[in-house]
Amino acid sequence: MPICPECESVLDFDEEEVDEGDVVVCDECGTEFEIVATDPLELSKVEEGYEDEDEEVEDEEEE
Ligand SMILES: [Zn+2]
Repeated sequence: MPICPECESVLDFDEEEVDEGDVVVCDECGTEFEIVATDPLELSKVEEGYEDEDEEVEDEEEE
């Protein structure tokens, strides 16, 4: 079983069940990891807000 790089808990998935590009979540610390390679297994931490980076903040200025 894979080990969470963040908190060293055992991750609740089998490395044979995942494919590259899948995202897994650590039950212990809640960190998301993208599977970047499966042989050997390689995880890349998904930074929070990564996909929402372009989100625009609405201004509510009154003139
Ligand atoms: Zn963890």
